[in-house]
Amino acid sequence: MISDEDGKLFKQLANGWVPYSILVGPDGKVVLFESEFQEAGFTAAVEKLFEEPAADTGGAKPALQPVPRRARGSWGANILILGGGSGGLVAAHHLRRKLPKSHKITVLDRSPNHLFQSSLLWHSVGLRRAEQIQRPLADLARKGVEFINEPVVEIDPAAGQVRTPSQEIDFDFLVIALGAELDPDEVMGFEEMALNLYDLEGTARIKAALDAFDGGKVGVIITDMPFKCPAAPYEAALLVESYLRKRGIRERSEVHIYTPEHQPMPIAGPAMGEALTKVLEKHDIHYHPLFTFEWFSPGDGTIVHSGGDPEKVDLVLAVPPHRAPEVIRYSGLMGSSGWVHVDHNTLQTEHEGVYAIGDVNNIRLANGKNLPMAGVFAHYEAEVVAERIAAEINGEEAGAQFTGKGYCWFELGDGKAAFAGGNFYVEPEPKVRMYPPLRAWHLSKVLFEKWWLRHWF
Ligand SMILES: Cc1cc2nc3c(=O)[nH]c(=O)nc-3n(C[C@H](O)[C@H](O)[C@H](O)COP(=O)(O)OP(=O)(O)OC[C@H]3O[C@@H](n4cnc5c(N)ncnc54)[C@H](O)[C@@H]3O)c2cc1C
Repeated sequence: MISDEDGKLFKQLANGWVPYSILVGPDGKVVLFESEFQEAGFTAAVEKLFEEPAADTGGAKPALQPVPRRARGSWGANILILGGGSGGLVAAHHLRRKLPKSHKITVLDRSPNHLFQSSLLWHSVGLRRAEQIQRPLADLARKGVEFINEPVVEIDPAAGQVRTPSQEIDFDFLVIALGAELDPDEVMGFEEMALNLYDLEGTARIKAALDAFDGGKVGVIITDMPFKCPAAPYEAALLVESYLRKRGIRERSEVHIYTPEHQPMPIAGPAMGEALTKVLEKHDIHYHPLFTFEWFSPGDGTIVHSGGDPEKVDLVLAVPPHRAPEVIRYSGLMGSSGWVHVDHNTLQTEHEGVYAIGDVNNIRLANGKNLPMAGVFAHYEAEVVAERIAAEINGEEAGAQFTGKGYCWFELGDGKAAFAGGNFYVEPEPKVRMYPPLRAWHLSKVLFEKWWLRHWF
């Protein structure tokens, strides 16, 4: 392991974040880097190096050798979907449409509700109420999908079984769509000083804090990489800026963004970064790229970083560190990246019939960066997996493949949004095009939200 505390390797890697610990394979290539030491991930990576030294060296399309599935009965298949978020919901819906009722489709989620996470940003500035952006997962019964409201505590992919606190559930096909786990407790001072921008409780607290705010310095901070939806913290800053103007306290306030990235949305390329930096400048939002965050110091209300004096901030909106869900870390499915490795086109793990979609998987692109965590990818990946499972069950050829296409809206506040879309599998760099801000983009984002919350339930 090589320590990179002075950041020299970081500049070479230019991957938009600061690696403190790095694992180098026998071929001299970096196979894992993290902003801190995660024992489980490192152990898995080291074990993998000994097992299959040539694997995991990046590049666009690793060919996983599937572990054959256990014998399956000839009666109706049991398809289990872990997680009723973006990916799980789409997979369940598409599978149900493609398969006769004799095949059982079950969604398991520890939360009773599906949350449309994109709308958390609107919730944080009072443009949505909590009940407007959630739907009960039990309503999936109306679509012929069974719902179990329990946490999954163990996954045994080889035995075809998962365990919850009350039962063991056998599956013939498994779709893992557990998303990313947020880990604010890992950051010193988070609970005392920062408000979580990425969950419903946090955005409710942000709204209350903004209502009570009477001017001062607001900081939006990305505490660690990777994080889901690369646009979201920037959109949050712009929405807050707009909110402060509407409240008439903009002139006695400052809005700052602190991030370990070298530009906004590095995955989308320098032109996108430049365009978004200009948008921030236009709104007089102070941008702090390559910010080497250390911890929050609630005693004096500062953000401590290794690049200079602590930053005094009055209101902190924070993106917490993201991790693979705990159950993944102990399932044997976690790859050296700390996430589940899958085939880039089929989304199958190294176990036949076991797929991982959305934020929980890791897809390394040709440029060495990772496919961003975003609902749009969870959605398209879910469609591919549903198609492949249904084809296998129906005795057809499974031809569906994920092609790396995606898009996103970029909310600018004041009822306007920009839009960007492209193909992330293009080599050597993703090809992403940004369309200029329009009210129409904002309206189409609102329409998409309405469609999403109505269509799947
Ligand atoms: C503020 C914000 C704004 C965003 N905006 C956008 C956007 O504009 N566009 C976009 O494309 N993406 C956006 N995203 C990202 C998008 O929401 C996620 O990438 C997407 O939801 C990932 O889908 P998923 O199915 O992988 O996981 P999730 O949707 O997170 O679902 C995971 C599910 O698994 C459940 N779960 C987790 N662990 C367990 C367990 N042990 N047992 C049982 N259940 C469990 C969870 O309760 C959850 O329901 C945004 C995210 C945030 C936070």
